[in-house]
Amino acid sequence: MGAKAIALAAGKQFYTTGKPCKYGHNPKRRTCTGRCVECENVSSLLRAKTDAGKATRQRYRETETGLIKERARTAKYHKSDKGKAARKKYRESEKGKAARARALARRKAKRG
Ligand SMILES: [Zn+2]
Repeated sequence: MGAKAIALAAGKQFYTTGKPCKYGHNPKRRTCTGRCVECENVSSLLRAKTDAGKATRQRYRETETGLIKERARTAKYHKSDKGKAARKKYRESEKGKAARARALARRKAKRG
């Protein structure tokens, strides 16, 4: 029995062949497809940049699950140091200051 069959029998999501893939990545493979995990990452990143990939993502965002996950991801990013730093940088930029000035003006206009 091969490593893949053993992992499949054990219900594992990943298995290792002990040998790198043909592109020299690490030997971790996905059990259901037998594909190298790194190769999968690379190909999904490449696909995300194509029109077909963007359309797929857009369709996913319009589903309930997609919306929930997108919101969760955004919230998580906002709470992360990276997200906080990005927000701070934006607020201190010319673009950010201009946007805040516009928002203030809008609020004043509403109050009359
Ligand atoms: Zn690979």
